[in-house]
Amino acid sequence: MTIPLQMANKDLVFQVNPNPSPMPVDKRQEVLDKPVFGTVFTDHMVDICWSETGGWHRPRVQPYGPIPLDPAAAVLHYGQEIFEGMKAYRHSDGSIWTFRPEANAQRMQRSAARMAMPELPVDYFIRSLQELIAVDGDWVPSAPETSLYIRPFMFAKEAFLGVRPAKKIAFYVIASPVGPYFGGNAKPVSIWLSTNYTRAGRGGTGAAKAGGNYAASLLAQSEAAEQGCQQVLFLDSVEGKYLEELGGMNVVLVYKDGTLVTPASDTILSGITRDSVLALAEARGHKVERRQVSIDEWRKGFDSGDIVEAFACGTAATVVPIGQLKAPDFTIGSADAPAGEVTMSLRDELIDIQYGRRPDDHGWMFRLDA
Ligand SMILES: *Cc1c(COP(=O)(O)O)cnc(C)c1O
Repeated sequence: MTIPLQMANKDLVFQVNPNPSPMPVDKRQEVLDKPVFGTVFTDHMVDICWSETGGWHRPRVQPYGPIPLDPAAAVLHYGQEIFEGMKAYRHSDGSIWTFRPEANAQRMQRSAARMAMPELPVDYFIRSLQELIAVDGDWVPSAPETSLYIRPFMFAKEAFLGVRPAKKIAFYVIASPVGPYFGGNAKPVSIWLSTNYTRAGRGGTGAAKAGGNYAASLLAQSEAAEQGCQQVLFLDSVEGKYLEELGGMNVVLVYKDGTLVTPASDTILSGITRDSVLALAEARGHKVERRQVSIDEWRKGFDSGDIVEAFACGTAATVVPIGQLKAPDFTIGSADAPAGEVTMSLRDELIDIQYGRRPDDHGWMFRLDA
């Protein structure tokens, strides 16, 4: 892909402090052979500081390890924190690529703005990924459906208990080799419909990728687990009848006539996976609608046969068919429903592009190791 000039800032000098005791090669290989989501991290991390007076400064790569933090750091008290999630994919020629990184960088800027934090320039964000891959590229696994999950995050570091936007912020990037999120084979998942809790409200932080949104979703997620479901679906907080999204994934319904419908609301996190899958569908001639969609519409549509598939999507799990939606007083579908055809074929197309097995007609792939 062509890189806008602002992304290719070669003057940004990262200070590299190599890890004196990286994981031994044979041990690393064991991890790469059987990666478990978010459990083992690479040898290094990136860190950039921001202060009100100095702006963004001191970009560096250093050994992965604990972060020194004052107990009064604002993030520990008021939760001023945001993050991103992306992946590095190894192609068959050994090269390392990521997917639409400028979209993640821009979303992090929007999240930062909402949480009263400074916006990290897009080129700093992209260079951080390249710097990390430069030292930890050997951590990108090559087995099918594996990748290196990359987690950029930013938090209020200032030691101050007054309530106002922090004047010192830290940006970090860490990475962890991962396999398929829900155990692989794109097995349909069961989703629990939360009627007791909502995820986001009008004017709130639902559209920001903020850690606090996840904290607020955990109790509903536990309820889902008690019901034998892997994920929870939230409804709107005003009327309790319009679909929003899962705790960390967007949702899409597929209609009999090929139309794809996804909820539209400024309380929903705008997923890059969803945006990409819908673009692929549009390129195939599917009609795509971004609009309010009620739980009633789904129930009736499923019963009448007008709604034939549903899927969830996000970077970690890519595209996951929804087999069943369980609510306190009704159920749509069944736990052993087969994966939908449209769902699986869009999933395959997306994953093939990410792993370099299909042409990247949209210019989404970005090489990290060159
Ligand atoms: C990250 C996230 C998504 C998915 O976004 P992607 O860019 O596709 O990874 C969806 N919903 C929420 C709440 C999220 O945090």
